[in-house]
Amino acid sequence: MLNITNRAKNVSPSLTLAITAKANKLKESGVDIVSFAAGEPDFNTPEFIVNAAKDALDKGLTKYTPASGIAPLKKAVCAKLKRDNALDFQPEQIVISTGAKQSLFNALQTVCQEGDEVIIISPYWLTYPELIKICGAKPVVVETKAEEGFALNVGLIEKAVTDKTRALILNMPNNPSGTVYGREKIEELAAMLRRHPDVWIVADEIYEALTYDGMEHFSIAQIDDMKDRTILINGLSKSYAMTGWRIGYAASPAYVAKYMGALQSHQTSNPNTIAQYASVTALDEGEAFIKNMRAVFEERRNALWSFLDEVPSIKYVKGNGALLWWIFPPCWGKSTAARR
Ligand code: PLP
Repeated sequence: MLNITNRAKNVSPSLTLAITAKANKLKESGVDIVSFAAGEPDFNTPEFIVNAAKDALDKGLTKYTPASGIAPLKKAVCAKLKRDNALDFQPEQIVISTGAKQSLFNALQTVCQEGDEVIIISPYWLTYPELIKICGAKPVVVETKAEEGFALNVGLIEKAVTDKTRALILNMPNNPSGTVYGREKIEELAAMLRRHPDVWIVADEIYEALTYDGMEHFSIAQIDDMKDRTILINGLSKSYAMTGWRIGYAASPAYVAKYMGALQSHQTSNPNTIAQYASVTALDEGEAFIKNMRAVFEERRNALWSFLDEVPSIKYVKGNGALLWWIFPPCWGKSTAARR
């Protein structure tokens, strides 16, 4: 065997995707199994989005596009950020990517280098530490507790900040706990971050559309002095049941977007052209679809909760957001004082 780099050797393959593949294989062999691995809506992509993709094909929109995405999609993302998050962004601040995962990769590659530290909040999505390690940086894990409903512990996060800390990844709603931290906590976090002005915030808001119990999504970028140090990441996978279409985006200060776009231009060039055109329609016309899907998920979650509540030995945290993990952790000892 010839040489393999430490960078490649240090990366663990995506466990989530491996478990999903295993579950699919079992399903195909006839086993009745429910997979809690990948965060993937079981809805099909709605027909009006599929039709927009067919339209793009019929019009011959099958060529390369600018590496950071087509202008109409950047415009649609800006309109979405204004409509849903009261955030003003210009198209030059937007980089469309091949999924939020690539946006995260672009963001971390742009702001972190060898020897830096990046804070992640546990429980966390397994991809974060791997993306951080690919930068040569070190993941620093800050715990949250089930007993406290996985609420952010801002004091603990501040303790983890050192002069090497380059970024904090803030994933809300959280995968896997389903926790929505809420405006007050986010404001408390912002107050702490003001004491550490060199720390970037990488806000992964991919589950934004999936919040329940009337919880409002509040982005840390909505706090004026946080916006210019935040790389906000979102995408269409979860909100529009478009996981396989691979469209995500990042909104950031224009100078960061320029570097992220350049990085992407040498990795994958533009995201899939047809999916980009379909995404314009999704963002412009998809509100009713999201509302309906969210209502169905909330109903299912409530049904599952009432079923579990009948089993006294099962304790779990009641998350207000995201997918599938509404019963996280699924098996929790009797003695633990859970927030129920
Ligand atoms: N961020 C989190 C927390 C996720 O759970 C996922 C997918 O499971 C992603 C980002 C990536 O989403 P995308 O399909 O847009 O790459």
